[in-house]
Amino acid sequence: MHRNWAGNLTYAAGDLVRPTSLEQLAEALTGTGRVRALGSRHSFNDVADTDGVHVQVDALDDGRPAVDVLDADGAQTGVVSVNAGLRHGEVSRALHATGRGLANLASLPHISVAGAVATATHGSGDRNQSLASAVVGLELMTPSGELRRLTRAEHPDVFPGAVVSLGALGVVTRLELATVPTYSVRQDVAADLPWDTFLESFDELTSAAYSVSAFTSWDEPAVRHVWFKQVVGLDGGAPPELPGLRWSAVPVHPLPGVDPSACTEQLGVPGPWHERLSHFRLEHTPSAGDELQSEYLLPRRNVAAAVEAMRRLGPRVAPLLATSEIRTIAPDDLWLSPFDEPSVGLHFTWLPREAEVRAVLPAMEEALLPLGARPHWGKVCDVDGPELAALFPRFDDFRKLALTFDPDGRLHGGLVGRLLS
Ligand SMILES: Cc1cc2nc3c(=O)[nH]c(=O)nc-3n(C[C@H](O)[C@H](O)[C@H](O)COP(=O)(O)OP(=O)(O)OC[C@H]3O[C@@H](n4cnc5c(N)ncnc54)[C@H](O)[C@@H]3O)c2cc1C
Repeated sequence: MHRNWAGNLTYAAGDLVRPTSLEQLAEALTGTGRVRALGSRHSFNDVADTDGVHVQVDALDDGRPAVDVLDADGAQTGVVSVNAGLRHGEVSRALHATGRGLANLASLPHISVAGAVATATHGSGDRNQSLASAVVGLELMTPSGELRRLTRAEHPDVFPGAVVSLGALGVVTRLELATVPTYSVRQDVAADLPWDTFLESFDELTSAAYSVSAFTSWDEPAVRHVWFKQVVGLDGGAPPELPGLRWSAVPVHPLPGVDPSACTEQLGVPGPWHERLSHFRLEHTPSAGDELQSEYLLPRRNVAAAVEAMRRLGPRVAPLLATSEIRTIAPDDLWLSPFDEPSVGLHFTWLPREAEVRAVLPAMEEALLPLGARPHWGKVCDVDGPELAALFPRFDDFRKLALTFDPDGRLHGGLVGRLLS
């Protein structure tokens, strides 16, 4: 019996295998029982679950370098092929060493690349798309043991359906990611920004830096912190000048009162992109560990209504919260991505009081779903099964695609079983 990272879920899977070769992976996949890919176990719901066998590809060696910056002809094109089981932090370090970078990162570098891509994991930034949007090609093994390679260029009809896959098409072994030249970022944190100023200047604030995140517990009179991550040389070498910003003179943690030593460096000190874009350092145990998360992604044009709705719910929500984060995300064309237009994310890091958290979610969804909100695929929500599938206009296309890869439903399990059955 094994559990997810937060410890709130014991997987129904009877076994966990970590193949070291493609032959061993094929052996694990072929047969008659249920099987499913497991990443670094950072999802808070049962999106990764199965009542059969879990397969992790973090030890897989297919004969190529784990981070391969060269294409088949030995040229460096900027597209990098990575072992799908690697953590973002590991890929980032290897890329930076070769002078390349990823456009964006999630708050935590410990999450596997395949797991992040499969659930449309995102960072922040008006011009930054989800991490899945960097994928230009992927290799996966289907339940019949067939290794297939799909690319955006060669399979334009199905590729946007195959990237955010929830693990329902097969076990992804390699991901081909578009990269950019490596870059430097400085991080500055402003404190206590009044809500009125925040909403009135929302567009100026979120466009004032490459990546912007606001932290609150919804019952406070002001937004507690706004984190600005600026590309040095592009956004300038000083913190943004906007009315109402008071810069913190000391480093802060997203959770009030927690020692910030686990966080990436702040106070405007420039550093490589991968040591600033995530909120947490790779070498530190992230966050409080014992937590739950929910997140709702909704059209950016509805941010004021969503913030007002959440502030009304503040007295119910705040006692259960460790912290909450507001982020912006650029749109993409991926079928199961919640970002089909410029979007905003309302993220909730909860105290590990699951029954109470689940009790407040219906009220939040009653307020947010009519504003176009969709839950994060890997976090705790109330809406489930067909009702959840119906929030994604391309879900029926995805169902048909999944059927062609997995005609017997052997990859169904947990949330994915409830969505597809
Ligand atoms: C502390 C913390 C911080 C977080 N921060 C962010 C954030 O900043 N932004 C954000 O959007 N999310 C964030 N998340 C959520 C997280 O990114 C997602 O839950 C993500 O899916 C976790 O990836 P994982 O590797 O742990 O996948 P798992 O939870 O193990 O699996 C998730 C899904 O990916 C599939 N999958 C995994 N590996 C493969 C594979 N090789 N082939 C096919 N499918 C596969 C699984 O089948 C499953 O459907 C955070 C989570 C935690 C715990």
